[in-house]
Amino acid sequence: METILLLAHTEFDGSLARPALEALAAAIALGGELHIGLAGAQVQAAADRVAGAGATRILAVTGDAFAQARYSTDAAAAEALCRASGAAIVVAPATSRWSRALPGVAYRLGGRIDTHATGLTVRDGAPSVTRWFYRQRMEAVLTRTARPWFVLLDVGCVAPWEGAPAASAQVETIAVAATQSRTTVTGIQAPKADEQTIRPDAPLLFVAGAGWTKKQPDGAVHIEEAQQLILGALRGAQASLGGSKSLVDSTGEGEAVLPFMTHLNQVGQTGSTPRHQKGLSTCCHGEEPHVVGWRFVTERRAVNLDANCGWARGKADVVYVADAFAVVRELNRLLA
Ligand SMILES: Cc1cc2nc3c(=O)[nH]c(=O)nc-3n(C[C@H](O)[C@H](O)[C@H](O)COP(=O)(O)OP(=O)(O)OC[C@H]3O[C@@H](n4cnc5c(N)ncnc54)[C@H](O)[C@@H]3O)c2cc1C
Repeated sequence: METILLLAHTEFDGSLARPALEALAAAIALGGELHIGLAGAQVQAAADRVAGAGATRILAVTGDAFAQARYSTDAAAAEALCRASGAAIVVAPATSRWSRALPGVAYRLGGRIDTHATGLTVRDGAPSVTRWFYRQRMEAVLTRTARPWFVLLDVGCVAPWEGAPAASAQVETIAVAATQSRTTVTGIQAPKADEQTIRPDAPLLFVAGAGWTKKQPDGAVHIEEAQQLILGALRGAQASLGGSKSLVDSTGEGEAVLPFMTHLNQVGQTGSTPRHQKGLSTCCHGEEPHVVGWRFVTERRAVNLDANCGWARGKADVVYVADAFAVVRELNRLLA
């Protein structure tokens, strides 16, 4: 097996986030000589964290410039680490930073890159990458002869490496020539943590469909209550919020909307394909373009007034033919 470089960037506190440890586990499973390349303001804590992973070299690019997510500095760090390692295969987690910077680094090194990999295995002695095509409808296994071969591993596909940390790992510092950058990071604006509705690590995906904003059996729309019920369920179950296309589209059409619902929440063929263990669909019909986004959700339940909805046709394990307002009201009472 060829030499493998695991590329990781540290977080603001110098730690390694879960996606880096997932990519490390995938890199180790390939079985070749392992190098680890770290980029960040400080990397010693991260190096200590992975010191027991069996890497023959831990390389690092450090300095304040590498704390920020920024194409020029991220690409420069990754390029320097790859050149110093000389590894044939470079595995990295598909974080927003690496997803943006590594395709350019692969080009600089004359290599190739595969993104959205969901697994790495060895077949007939050759490393191979698994990924899905056509909005998760077909799974393919790819091999390549071109090197260096970069692989961006999607988050949540592999159990993270859980080896014990060690003290004072040996780190080889790699110098990077000063990079030209037009981007200065002046601060970060982010919603408060409790306003965050997309939680990839949550065990439960709570999906809201357009039914929440439609006229109910009493002839009226109950947007305010819908908001309170959905937010209550999210808070109580610490669930991640998904939406149907109809619901997120109505946000842009000036209709009665749920203000916390955006296109980022959309699940389905033209939305996302999240990987939660369980899913609860509410007021959503369960049409195929929506349900295709549930491919990786293993336990599925739906609440719909319509006993003939799409979920009832073999797409959910359990369908409650009921008023979602009443069900979620009761659910929130129990969660409280
Ligand atoms: C090319 C293409 C791509 C698409 N991509 C996507 C995609 O990525 N994601 C996606 O979601 N859709 C996608 N769609 C659209 C999809 O086909 C459906 O139109 C959409 O999912 C319907 O959304 P909905 O179920 O929320 O709304 P509706 O079809 O309006 O269903 C609302 C449901 O709410 C139920 N309901 C109402 N009130 C209550 C209540 N009180 N309690 C319980 N149930 C209630 C109703 O019975 C109904 O079943 C795509 C379509 C096309 C053509």
